[in-house]
Amino acid sequence: MTATTSNQECALKWCNEAGEHRTHRQYVTSVVAGRGRWMLGVNLVESETGRRQIELTAVPRHGPSVVLDLQPDEAEAIGDSLVEAATRQAHASA
Ligand SMILES: [Zn+2]
Repeated sequence: MTATTSNQECALKWCNEAGEHRTHRQYVTSVVAGRGRWMLGVNLVESETGRRQIELTAVPRHGPSVVLDLQPDEAEAIGDSLVEAATRQAHASA
């Protein structure tokens, strides 16, 4: 078990969490999106059991947040699709 107490430094060098935490997390990116109404975040997380996932968070200006835990292949598929759609959008107006 790699959970920390408030007085410990996290043993995982890649972890960005401070203070007591059970889930290790590296904040990869956060982007304001949807006309400023959402904050989207992508994090690498590792649970107490050592299971690593990609976490996609969507935090609205008002209301509850949404958190999706993704397998690496799922995250890649979504990322590739976003790039593909953005590329198509850029060419669609031509
Ligand atoms: Zn940690």
